[in-house]
Amino acid sequence: MSGTKYEVVDTHCHLDFKNFNKDRDEVIKRALGAGVTTMINSGIDLKTNRKSLELARKYDFVFATLGLNPNGLSETTDEDVEATLDQIRSHAKEIVGVGEAGLDYYRCPDQKGRDRQREVFRKVVGLAKELDLPQVIHARLAEDEAFDMVKDLNKVVFHCYSGTVGTMREAVDRGFYISLATVVCKSAQHQVLARQVPLDLLLIETDSPFLSPKKGRNEPAYVLESLNLIAKIKDLPPEEVAKATTANAKRIFNL
Ligand SMILES: [Zn+2]
Repeated sequence: MSGTKYEVVDTHCHLDFKNFNKDRDEVIKRALGAGVTTMINSGIDLKTNRKSLELARKYDFVFATLGLNPNGLSETTDEDVEATLDQIRSHAKEIVGVGEAGLDYYRCPDQKGRDRQREVFRKVVGLAKELDLPQVIHARLAEDEAFDMVKDLNKVVFHCYSGTVGTMREAVDRGFYISLATVVCKSAQHQVLARQVPLDLLLIETDSPFLSPKKGRNEPAYVLESLNLIAKIKDLPPEEVAKATTANAKRIFNL
């Protein structure tokens, strides 16, 4: 690695998604070239969990978290849910976290669907506790409720945190980690959060292929764009933000 680059971790991406089928190796090469030394690939269901494990086995700098995303739960049966929980449990030694999982009220306006999300998330949280692994939370318009449901856990990461500053403060008071996605480059709300999140509990991520800071598909190399912007917002040298967020990622995910 050249001396001008920082070692950074993209703590949340979906490199297994079909958006990368044509050029996955190139994307990974660009990430490594940009200084992204570690990528955490997040599964969202049975199929993507399997693919996340495959990626983690193939590349020693890719780690997997296995989860069960709240979106799409209306089409899953209780058997599907149990099968996914069993899958996570049986691969517990190979993974660095449980998730993404949580509550997405933005995409689910109806009460019945939200009840289902809570029921499933409660099970996932129980599993994260049982396995003593970090719980990676996906929450949209439901950050405070998700926070209430994980209060018993010691290791929690709010992936792409988009809630209020108030809930963020309560979360960091418990030692929970706040991960800011590359959406920070475009969103005033996330820039306010970036200023307020304490450096010792801050993580950075792309959520690739989503939330690109540019037009089109996102990719792990772009995490550097958030790093530079967050450094500017916090009035710190980028190197210091890189050092802190990388140390934080290694600590919480035990990398
Ligand atoms: Zn994600």
